[in-house]
Amino acid sequence: MIVQMKKNVTKEELEKLQSYLKEKGLGIKDASSAEIVLFGILGDTKSLDPDQIKVFAGVENVTRISSPYKLASKAFRQEPTVITLKNGVKIGSDEFVVMAGPCSVESEEQLTIIAEAVKAAGSKILRGGVFKPRTSPYAFQGLGIEGLKMMRKVADKLDMAIVTELMGTEHLEEFVKYTDIIQIGARNMQNFDLLKAIGKYNVPVLLKRGLSNTIEEWLMSAEYIMASGNEQVILCERGIRTFEKYTRNTLDISAVLAVRELSHLPVIVDPSHAAGKWEMIESLSLASLAVGADGIIVEVHHDPERAFSDGPQSLKPKQFSAMMDKLEKLSTVLEKKIVR
Ligand code: PEP
Ligand code: MN
Repeated sequence: MIVQMKKNVTKEELEKLQSYLKEKGLGIKDASSAEIVLFGILGDTKSLDPDQIKVFAGVENVTRISSPYKLASKAFRQEPTVITLKNGVKIGSDEFVVMAGPCSVESEEQLTIIAEAVKAAGSKILRGGVFKPRTSPYAFQGLGIEGLKMMRKVADKLDMAIVTELMGTEHLEEFVKYTDIIQIGARNMQNFDLLKAIGKYNVPVLLKRGLSNTIEEWLMSAEYIMASGNEQVILCERGIRTFEKYTRNTLDISAVLAVRELSHLPVIVDPSHAAGKWEMIESLSLASLAVGADGIIVEVHHDPERAFSDGPQSLKPKQFSAMMDKLEKLSTVLEKKIVR
């Protein structure tokens, strides 16, 4: 429920209403701006009667948010959320942000070759997995914390930010220390304990859509992180499971538009895990820019034939650079720009 107060509301009037709500066990989340005094009521508001709240002095308007997610909803905040990283990159602004790098961090040499190539092509955020959620327990599981430190070292040399996946709470503090964006993978989208734990830190989170999750479930997972105190959530559409087997997953490009309608959070696209085929990445990236996504996250490998994971969907550096040229050209006629 959102409560808008009158412009001339006094501090006492505001406090009176808010302490009444707190006594009922509800939470208050301020959403005021220079022009407007506004707050959200969090918790189980089903039994609250908006007309009862309007009786309090200073109340202008009371609106019930019909969606089950509140903090993530457009009703709660109209202006888009912009997340600023330590290296100055803004996600959710008018810049189309390109995150790129290998599926897995394999060695310092491999990471350096790829990081230098994607940086030269204009990417400012290095992706790479150090804890890998593999279908088979016999497949490469990632270099772990050693790989994380490697990523930091390589990224720092190139003034790049890093995004990498956290699979469990045991390494959370190290991730907060070494990464710029913590990725929650598709398989963990509904790992609610992990979401609550990450919500206690003020760190940008890339929340991938689950393999078979609805947009509402995805936004509810964002709500978990936000309700725990961390509002820096970036959504990532990475393809969903459908009956179609030609592609690895089915890229739900319209999900970007749906999220734009429903939420103020930034949304990016992962064409690599959606398509599973490198030949489709360029076109799907252009489509992501055209549909109004805030960016993409793309897998790149200098030697995809020998990649430890996801070689078939990885672009070679030259292909990535050519794609960046096309994105830049397309961005000249759109609102979002590529800044290289
Ligand atoms: C990844 O980005 O490395 C990854 C495993 O993606 P997803 O969780 O979307 O499958
Ligand atoms: Mn991958």
